Amino acid sequence: MTQDTGIGADQKIERRKIGRTAIEVTPIGLGSWQFSQGQGFHGYVWSALSDKVTDEIVRTSLEGGISWIDTAEVYGKGRSERGVARALKAAGKHSGDVVIATKWFPMLRTAGSIRKTIGQRLLNLDGFSIDLYQIHQPWSLSTVEAEMEAMADLVEAGKIRAVGVSNFDADRMRRAHAALARRGLPLASNQVKYNLLDRRIERNGVLAAARELGITIIAYSPLEMGLLTGKFHRDRGLLESRPFFRRTFLTKRIQRSVSLIAALDEIAALHGVKTGQVALNWLINVHGDAVVAIPGASKVEHALQNSGSMKFRLSGEEMQRLDDLSSRLTP
Ligand code: NAP
Repeated sequence: MTQDTGIGADQKIERRKIGRTAIEVTPIGLGSWQFSQGQGFHGYVWSALSDKVTDEIVRTSLEGGISWIDTAEVYGKGRSERGVARALKAAGKHSGDVVIATKWFPMLRTAGSIRKTIGQRLLNLDGFSIDLYQIHQPWSLSTVEAEMEAMADLVEAGKIRAVGVSNFDADRMRRAHAALARRGLPLASNQVKYNLLDRRIERNGVLAAARELGITIIAYSPLEMGLLTGKFHRDRGLLESRPFFRRTFLTKRIQRSVSLIAALDEIAALHGVKTGQVALNWLINVHGDAVVAIPGASKVEHALQNSGSMKFRLSGEEMQRLDDLSSRLTP
């Protein structure tokens, strides 16, 4: 084991199918909202990263064994998609080497825009094909059924390989699943917020429906935007340097998570790993292979550690302890 916790860089890492598709990914992928370059609203959440740092984060993630990247149309109005493509090229990758997931943003749009804007997605991705195309949010001027028809057309046209949704409740997810089934296609995934401090999907029917229908849960904000690494607990001043929205959001949550961070710290020390790695490891193993996670990174060391979180196992007792503790804290 290395102290920086790449944890045996050449270790073989498990692959999981995304839903009932043929697409296989590692339990951890790389989230790339951080690559929005501070554009618009995104600048209130994430500081801008240089191309050099972005390229290094992607390269380190891939070297650490991560096999896929999640991006979106709306992240910096295409800047994240373009950054991902540039970084993959810089790492010597070609289309098909890495699984790419991106998203269509539905707000104030109809399903017709899914067909109209796919060309721009592919242009931004600069030769890298889209494996998983997701509806980013439930809000749209069209029905779920119309959106799924448009997505199915893209699969049939060979523009994307599989269809996912994001932030869908159980009912909408079931409707999306049924609409795609009528076209002979599976609904691959639902990307939702899920972590040790936010376990709502366990109670609102989303996780149960996903498991019943064979839909993979892609957990976003798996570190509660960095809080579960414990760094903001250890250094309360650190949040001051973070952009407005995240500073406000996280400040409110620090106090109520003190006991959980203490337990994560303790377990991390026993395994010789980092606090955040324990939080990620719990998340990707607590429901067998039903959940995969996409931590974001703004530093190369984050990419190294997050990929390393796939390379050790917590004991049943440790999993249970975290489960019990977090159940008392989560909304
Ligand atoms: P996250 O992954 O929980 O947190 C990412 C932040 O945590 C990083 O920017 C960094 O904060 C810190 N961090 C990450 N790894 C670390 C490490 N090893 N050590 C110390 N700090 C570390 O939250 P997220 O970025 O909101 O979610 C991840 C991805 O999910 C996004 O990139 C995006 O692709 C996706 N997402 C999707 C939706 C949706 O609606 N579908 C919504 C949100 C996110 P600092 O930069 O402050 O150092």
